[in-house]
Amino acid sequence: MRLIYKTLLLAFLSFIFISCAKTPYTNRTQFIMLSPKDEIRMGYQAAREVLQKEPISHDRRLNYLVRKVGMRIAKVANQPNYKWEFYVIDKDIPNAFCLPGGKVFVYKGIFKIAKNEDQLATVIAHEVAHAILRHGAERMSMAQIGELGKELLSQTVLRGSQYAGLFDMAYGLGAQYGVLLPYSRKFEYEADEVGLYLMTKAGYDPREALKFWENMMRISKGKNPPEFLSTHPADIHRIERLKALIPKALKYYR
Ligand SMILES: [Zn+2]
Repeated sequence: MRLIYKTLLLAFLSFIFISCAKTPYTNRTQFIMLSPKDEIRMGYQAAREVLQKEPISHDRRLNYLVRKVGMRIAKVANQPNYKWEFYVIDKDIPNAFCLPGGKVFVYKGIFKIAKNEDQLATVIAHEVAHAILRHGAERMSMAQIGELGKELLSQTVLRGSQYAGLFDMAYGLGAQYGVLLPYSRKFEYEADEVGLYLMTKAGYDPREALKFWENMMRISKGKNPPEFLSTHPADIHRIERLKALIPKALKYYR
């Protein structure tokens, strides 16, 4: 127990280093207790762990597609400190994520839902948006100050690593580690919006985003809805919100 209090004290002391960041595009004020440098460093560490634990696909066509679409989105994401890398994971689940620092992982199963490059761009841009909006760092900071923080920290302290576990959970890697902590709706909608702008800036058709989420919705009605949907609920509200943003997104079309 004493260790938990120590950790909490540390978390509160780190308030001194709070950065009052603004999100790109949506211009929302965020309270983040993690420096971008530390965030990226933890992203690289997590990426190394994912590479050790997950089967990487060497399918040439899929790797080519993910890299091609990913690089176009990376270009417009405007993150000079990121070292972009793209991987396909050889698992038949429709999931994807982007770690801070620009390590992007797309599960093979996503190709059953993303029917063309524009739809693949939808999911990659959405995940890249979570990263550049620093949602994981924000969530970590929120967790550290809230009741949730006590719980998460006690778990992570028990696991012997103060931040690593919290990081995994904050970035939605929890599924691989037995804990699933979905982003809040607010973060999901924000990543949808910024993702839509990014894909459009990269030259993709934002209207395909609607089709991607419609495909997702169709799958969620099946017998075994994929894991991705528990963190990314595809429903009519999500699609309606995206639809309303299309005119704004089209202004980014080049
Ligand atoms: Zn998301």
